[in-house]
Amino acid sequence: MRGFAMIDPNETGFIEKDDPEIGPRDALVKPLVVAPCTSDIHTVYENAIGPRHDLILGHEASGEIVAVGDEVKDFKVGDKVILPAVTPDWSDVNSQAGFASHFGGMLGGWKFSNNKDGVFATRIHVNDADGNLAHLPLGMDPGVATMLSDMIPTGFNADELAHVEYGDTVAVIGIGPVGLMALRGAVLHGAGRIFAVGSRPQAIKVAKEYGATDIIDYHDGDIADQIIEKNNGQGVDRVLIAGGDSEHTFDQAVRMTRPGGSIGNVAYLNGNDNIKINASNWGVGMANITIDGGVMPGGRLRMEKLASLITNGRLDPSLLITHTFDGFDKIPDALELMHNKPADLIKPVVYISDID
Ligand code: NDP
Ligand code: ZN
Repeated sequence: MRGFAMIDPNETGFIEKDDPEIGPRDALVKPLVVAPCTSDIHTVYENAIGPRHDLILGHEASGEIVAVGDEVKDFKVGDKVILPAVTPDWSDVNSQAGFASHFGGMLGGWKFSNNKDGVFATRIHVNDADGNLAHLPLGMDPGVATMLSDMIPTGFNADELAHVEYGDTVAVIGIGPVGLMALRGAVLHGAGRIFAVGSRPQAIKVAKEYGATDIIDYHDGDIADQIIEKNNGQGVDRVLIAGGDSEHTFDQAVRMTRPGGSIGNVAYLNGNDNIKINASNWGVGMANITIDGGVMPGGRLRMEKLASLITNGRLDPSLLITHTFDGFDKIPDALELMHNKPADLIKPVVYISDID
């Protein structure tokens, strides 16, 4: 098979490998659509998961099954499927403990483009097919479906981590594709006022369409100051972090949260950084402000439920897709867009109709 890989840190390229072998509960999938993630950029250019050699990148895809193991019950060759970014082994006891994305150790469920080859490949190995794959709903565009791999489940996870409730005032820090999904998730959870922090014009337009009531540009001054001032001197109920940096963002998030409020982080933080929080901003340690952070939970049931939001018209992820490519060889172009983040970019996808 062919794959687009991290050859070494800061170096990418196409490589050839043997097709993966499948076990009795696994599936082999050929991609229909793949999308690069900001995490691929952290992996290649920012040493996020350490040095890797010839690791095929990518963890967002929809595809078509080309082979299944003997024990796979609900999927067969020819089925069109959505692949999640996180693919735990669901029979593992650690998965049953409730945090399957960390089965076998911290972030252990994040396998694609982390501890096994990713989806930028002509053949993709999916472990535990019945537990991890979801059928592509009839009539759903595979590009739209690819937003179910990571952007929707990750963004919505920020709302779950922060426990957004009806009428809450919410601040969403970062309105790239992940933050925009956190924002839309907040609307679906019943949030009232929603502050959205970002500056790229296309993302701001979509943030308003998804339900942001106020846009805050971090270039215009401290975002906590701006939000507290607009919120009549009060902190907000929930803060969803999907962008920013370790040095300032957590302190700002704590400062803009009311006592008893909560913060959900889904942004990647550089492992060499320390998170800074001023003790006074955290009520000298007594503010009853909860901070949680997580990697997206995987699982077929969750993906099918999130897909039902799309098929029933409650969520339109097509607004995220600003750039479309056609052909396996265009994957590097899409990744480079993610690297450069031009002002009109939210999310690129690559349709792949040129492989057997
Ligand atoms: P983007 O780079 O597209 O978006 C980042 C956002 O943060 C942009 O809106 C940007 O604003 C904003 N931002 C940048 N600097 C600041 C700042 N100083 N203060 C406030 N806001 C700022 O990223 P994605 O949406 O693709 O991904 C977001 C994060 O989620 C990444 O760290 C990614 O690795 C992580 N992630 C986590 C996953 C998980 O399971 N937990 C899964 C997938 C991704 P501007 O409009 O100016 O660009
Ligand atoms: Zn990702």
